[in-house]
Amino acid sequence: MAKPTHVLVVEDEAALNELLKYNLEKEGYRVSVAVDGDEALVLAEETPPDLIVLDWMLPKASGVEVCRRLRARQETRNTPIVMLTARGEESDRIRGLDTGADDYITKPFSMVELLARLRAVMRRIRPGLAEDKLVAGDIVMDRVSHRVKRGARDVHLGPTEFRILEHLMQHPSRVFSREQLLDAVWGSDVYVEARTVDVHIGRLRKALMVGDEIDPIRTVRSAGYALDFETVSA
Ligand code: CA
Repeated sequence: MAKPTHVLVVEDEAALNELLKYNLEKEGYRVSVAVDGDEALVLAEETPPDLIVLDWMLPKASGVEVCRRLRARQETRNTPIVMLTARGEESDRIRGLDTGADDYITKPFSMVELLARLRAVMRRIRPGLAEDKLVAGDIVMDRVSHRVKRGARDVHLGPTEFRILEHLMQHPSRVFSREQLLDAVWGSDVYVEARTVDVHIGRLRKALMVGDEIDPIRTVRSAGYALDFETVSA
């Protein structure tokens, strides 16, 4: 059997915490529990989880703050985060925030719904991780040998373009702002001008498109970039 998926549950309500742990373990997950934001950040650093279920109303560091800090760290930069939000205004507000969460579930929710959403998030992330190969449209990236192919053709990329493409391929169709790409590719502690992202995206496009090949990178005006095959496939 494959190694069980390790879920970090961050929730301060003891009853919900126990219910989540019980149901997730029954489903075959390995579960760690944190009861506040600070503990979550410590646990995630000690043993980086495969998946994080994060309540947004937490003592100490809030769910939003925890999410941002996890995204700024190398080990948890791409870890799927499903955020639990309260019904009403609060959940609308959080959806509008740029938290970096992969999905949101509004309380109260059923365990069946939660488990289904976690499975969906893992399906999106796992196929690539399992074989260290990412596939998007006709682009295939081998993350071990650092080779990229488009169709039968080898694509030669510089290290920065490789990391940008890797990040986009891990989250197909998701739009990333220049700042998010900077954080993901250069790290949040490095000062790089946002315009630099445009330069590298330009190089990446040039390497990916030869002859009449379709441009797989969608520029979203004043928002950022996404790798998008669904909208461009002929
Ligand atoms: Ca809470």
